[in-house]
Amino acid sequence: MARSGPAPPVVFTDALLVTQDAARRVLRSDLRTEGGRIAYVGPHAPREGAEVVDAHGYACVPGFVNAHTHVAMAPLRGIADDRDLAGFLETLFAVDAHRTEADVEAGARAGIAEMLLSGTTSFLDLYYFEDAVARASEALGIRGFLGWAVLDPELTTQQGKPLDNARAFIDRWKGHPLVRPLVAPQGVYVCNEATWTGARALADREGTLCHFHLSETRREVHEHEAKTGKRPVVWLEAIGVLGPRMVAAHCVWLTGEEIAILARRGIGIAHCASSNLKLASGGVAPVVELRAAGAAVGLGTDSVASNNSLSMLREMHVAGLVQKNQRWDAAALSAQELLDLATIEGARALGASDELGSLEVGKRADLSLVRLDHPTLLPARPEAIVSHLAYSAAEEAIDSVYVDGAPVVRGRRLVRGSWDAIRSGAEAAAESLWAARPRP
Ligand SMILES: [Zn+2]
Repeated sequence: MARSGPAPPVVFTDALLVTQDAARRVLRSDLRTEGGRIAYVGPHAPREGAEVVDAHGYACVPGFVNAHTHVAMAPLRGIADDRDLAGFLETLFAVDAHRTEADVEAGARAGIAEMLLSGTTSFLDLYYFEDAVARASEALGIRGFLGWAVLDPELTTQQGKPLDNARAFIDRWKGHPLVRPLVAPQGVYVCNEATWTGARALADREGTLCHFHLSETRREVHEHEAKTGKRPVVWLEAIGVLGPRMVAAHCVWLTGEEIAILARRGIGIAHCASSNLKLASGGVAPVVELRAAGAAVGLGTDSVASNNSLSMLREMHVAGLVQKNQRWDAAALSAQELLDLATIEGARALGASDELGSLEVGKRADLSLVRLDHPTLLPARPEAIVSHLAYSAAEEAIDSVYVDGAPVVRGRRLVRGSWDAIRSGAEAAAESLWAARPRP
């Protein structure tokens, strides 16, 4: 399943580098990749043996890290709009029961194409039939952190026990250069204590991430409290499963005590502002407090059924606006912080900040070239480039994208797949899925 060898060296010359290094430097500079990693940052990069890309007129930006999605749901965009989470899930569960591995793969290819074309180079996914998502990731060249959904055996539509399926999936894909398999207990509302401890043990044994939904709605929190006497985070702490290499999506309804527990246990957080707003979660995730407590917070788009986009550019914009408005504080979540969440902090939430999230020597060469002459980046001054990325840049400004130093988008075209073929495959999948939706 491994790809053939590392990408040949590339030198990007005279780019506006948005490094996201510790000093958050923005430099006019060259960048050389070698063996899939960043080998040199600075003026006059050595050009021996390298393809030279004239990057004058482009910002060179770390690839975005989408910290929570269900990418294979691409054919379900618009299928359950304008409904609250309960109504939304009713539709989604009905459609889910009709999904096949083939249509999951077709959907994943479409979702991955959308992500690559908007500058995302890594994503954390939660779904089933994840082999199909893994094949699509490998084919199109994106870095996939892929979580096999686990829930109580009596609640699943999966063949066999979900935990066994997750274990087998991890076995099949571990060690792959682009795909990092992991276990994904869906949430406290479908996972009992045995399922949680089994998932934790599997993640510990294999050294993988463990990804889950957490405290998305008041209903989830109140029902769990009624059942167990404890709020979800307090309960997870009490049963002893919280620890390193865990990433929790949503985290809208948290108490101060729960924020402190999550930070102390080193839980990564995927903030899904658009999805929470659209499904009317009612609250706003305490991103500022989580960050102040030391938690690593990234941004997740969630699926296109609840967002309805996989664009991290849109996600930064929305996440910033909602925090500012909610807190009556225009300085809350600044442009720089938003770009941090989309890059280096998202990488930290996934335990991968030594490899991903910034343009520094030794890191993986996952990056985008963003057109500085696009109308949404005017005036494109170096001192405003971070602002443009966080608040105004359109997806169409993303010109080229590299993963492990290999081009995956060039001149807004996928390098390793044809959008026409991907689109018609996903449209065919949508045909039967839309037929299965319950009518009001
Ligand atoms: Zn989700």
